[in-house]
Amino acid sequence: MTARIIDGKAVAATLRAGLAERVKSLGFAPGLRVVRVGDDPASGVYVRNKDRAAQQAGFDSATIQLPEDTTEAALLAVVRQLNEDPAVDGILVQLPLPAHIRADAVIQAVDPAKDVDGFHAINAGKLAIGQPALTPCTPKGVMHLLAAAGASLRGARAVVLGRSNIVGKPMAALLLAADATVTVVHSRTQNLATECRRADILVAAVGRPELVRGDWIEEGATVIDVGINRLPNGRLVGDVAFDEAVQHAGAITPVPGGVGPMTIACLLENTLEAAIARRGA
Ligand code: NDP
Repeated sequence: MTARIIDGKAVAATLRAGLAERVKSLGFAPGLRVVRVGDDPASGVYVRNKDRAAQQAGFDSATIQLPEDTTEAALLAVVRQLNEDPAVDGILVQLPLPAHIRADAVIQAVDPAKDVDGFHAINAGKLAIGQPALTPCTPKGVMHLLAAAGASLRGARAVVLGRSNIVGKPMAALLLAADATVTVVHSRTQNLATECRRADILVAAVGRPELVRGDWIEEGATVIDVGINRLPNGRLVGDVAFDEAVQHAGAITPVPGGVGPMTIACLLENTLEAAIARRGA
């Protein structure tokens, strides 16, 4: 059997087109501000893609670029100013920040109502207790991909590989909220392969190139590969050995072209949700 490929580019394009329609009917442009400190080249491409996607969908989007030597106090002052700006619905501080700035202090300074990354403790807590919240973009994107793939979640065994605050933990919370039976595995888990083999739905977010082998995958399982790893030869691979996995899975996301495009689309979705909630639109 060869797996169906879940086309993240197509799902993201459909989501962005739907958001653009909803923005048109709002009568105002939801405001998104991305704050970037320094010049990390990897995040540079990402930030430009965000701006382009946001503008195409009718958002009022801009990047505030600050120098590498910006102090934590100066960055916090920028965040506070954006918190108070009524035209700004969503604030995203691009990570990683330079080492002299405490990322957590900055994340917790963002108004939770404008926290379109969903990293603030208030939003993380609301997600954990099942209240409406701004939800981290990558796991939210995974939920859209699972829906597009027609995966049935209620009662399904879902295994999340990785327990970071930005992917693994919110992923597990979203799958649990969708009535899956969720197992989270990580670097201290014993018999990783055996745990993964139990999964009807396997979400890999570890940052280890091709860690998940074909024989870790239950026949017909749905496999979502969040990992983005650059090999020394320049090739981009996921956390799943795609060529092997495709022989066992029922459906699988490619890297690139799977989860990646969904993250930006979900950032826009969060910005629209924040705008509607804040302005009562
Ligand atoms: P982190 O490094 O924060 O977390 C990795 C998690 O994987 C940790 O929980 C860690 O366990 C676990 N882990 C690491 N090595 C192993 C191992 N050998 N066996 C089992 N578990 C292991 O990464 P992120 O969650 O931020 O990102 C994960 C991947 O997703 C990365 O490749 C990243 O580039 C990608 N990513 C992609 C995005 C997209 O838009 N597509 C967005 C965000 C991330 P422990 O907690 O025990 O240390």
